[in-house]
Amino acid sequence: MAKTLANCDDCRKDFKIKYIKTTRKPDIQIMYFKCKHCKKIYICSATDADMRKEQVEIKMMMREVNQLAANTAIPDWQIKNKWDHIESKKQRLKFRIKTLGNRYKEELR
Ligand SMILES: [Zn+2]
Repeated sequence: MAKTLANCDDCRKDFKIKYIKTTRKPDIQIMYFKCKHCKKIYICSATDADMRKEQVEIKMMMREVNQLAANTAIPDWQIKNKWDHIESKKQRLKFRIKTLGNRYKEELR
C-alpha cells in the first residue's frame, strides 16, 4: 500500500504511515499504524468474520441499487430509500468496527 504522511495527534510530529496487519483469535483481523516518534497506535479497522460478511453484503447491496438506479422506471424516492437503508447499515457497522478496534489499542502498544 502507498505510504502517506500523517501528523500525530499526540506528539504533533509528521510520520510516514506504514500499515501493519495482524490477527487475533478466533477470527479478528486488525489493520493499524503507529507514530514512529511516540508510538501512538492508530487503528484503521478491526473486524471479525461476521463484520466482514456484512461488509460484503453492503457492497452487494450497493451494486444492486446502482443497477436499479440505471432503470428509469424506478422512482427516485425508492432508490433514495434504499440508499438510506444501506447508509444506516454502514454507519452501524462502522461503529462496531471502531468499538472492536478500541479494545485492541492498549494491547498493540
Ligand atoms: Zn506521535
